Amino acid sequence: MRIPFNKPFLAGRELDYIQQAVTAGKLSGNGGFTQHCQAFLEQRYGLGKALLTTSATAALEMAALLLDLQPGDEVLMPSFTFTSTANAFVLRGARIVFVDSSPAHPNMDVAQLESLITPRTRAIVPVHYAGVACDMDAIMALATRYNLVVIEDAAQAIESFYRGRPLGSIGHLAAFSFHETKNVIAGEGGLLAINDPRFAARAEVLWEKGTNRAAFFRGETAKYQWVDVGSSFLPSELTAAYLLAQLEELPRIQARRQQQWQRYHAALQPLAAAGRVGLPTIPAYAAHNAHIFYLLCANSFERQALIQHLAARDILAVFHYQTLHNSPFYAARHDGRPLPCATHYDECLVRLPLFFTLTEAEQQEVIEAVSSFFAVSR
Ligand SMILES: *Cc1c(COP(=O)(O)O)cnc(C)c1O
Repeated sequence: MRIPFNKPFLAGRELDYIQQAVTAGKLSGNGGFTQHCQAFLEQRYGLGKALLTTSATAALEMAALLLDLQPGDEVLMPSFTFTSTANAFVLRGARIVFVDSSPAHPNMDVAQLESLITPRTRAIVPVHYAGVACDMDAIMALATRYNLVVIEDAAQAIESFYRGRPLGSIGHLAAFSFHETKNVIAGEGGLLAINDPRFAARAEVLWEKGTNRAAFFRGETAKYQWVDVGSSFLPSELTAAYLLAQLEELPRIQARRQQQWQRYHAALQPLAAAGRVGLPTIPAYAAHNAHIFYLLCANSFERQALIQHLAARDILAVFHYQTLHNSPFYAARHDGRPLPCATHYDECLVRLPLFFTLTEAEQQEVIEAVSSFFAVSR
């Protein structure tokens, strides 16, 4: 398509830093670029400890390992999310108890959470959809009352805030993503934030293939050995070099995305006021990062027609997520509760192109194409 949905981009010194990594002769993980990225993110967002990972999926898998889940343990999370949110815990034998979305926005309906907690419940995984915060005070209060671990799926939520606090710094653990579709990219990449110190030492061992290699290189142990389970969760220095260059340009990346998001919002507001289309609802406690701009159509047929209308103008708009409780893999394992709000977002939500190098003229074309669709329909 002439106007794609997403386009990976260079923000600054990515190629320069990759060349430096190659010249320095250290390409495997946990080198200087990795440590620089981790320190930057720990400091900027007040994270307890940060470990770069190969993806948010890998960070979520590490979180699930850290919980030491037993088969039959239950984990609460929204059905309207990416498969990795659930897969990480299913891999450990957990049962997923899916929470419906809020009627007001795609995030989990916190009002339903308490009624879903059982003696087997171990964790809550809030997903900050579109970088819009979940109601973290309410979630953390429940976690304290029922002794649960909170793992924020902050894959979309870098540089987003809840009542002034950075997302990813509030839960006991949190996962970020640097996949090429996110705000800050490294191709594939992620981060595990360990805010609860009780998980810190073991996280580093899981990260380094079950060894105490990281402690060894800090001179804390005479040799490094196999001490626990683990895997290869750490990315190469090439990934970290690319990422560092992006992190250095965070303010510029974010300023541009905010401007793009606001431009869509302002231009489509009249359509929303006329009741033709739904726009994102941002709760008062959330300051979002302009990760996604979405529209809500009246139903799946209207959405399909809109996507086709845009495609005919060489513009790619996409939908997601297909609810997980209805998926071919999980439908038979789901407890059968209907989740009408999650289903509504599954059927009606459409995402418009939004990426760093999207020009104002291209965006104007998208706005005109959307407007012309709703001018003639209904
Ligand atoms: C992108 C995304 C993931 C997965 O991130 P990867 O880095 O691609 O593994 C997980 N959860 C959510 C909500 C996401 O948007």
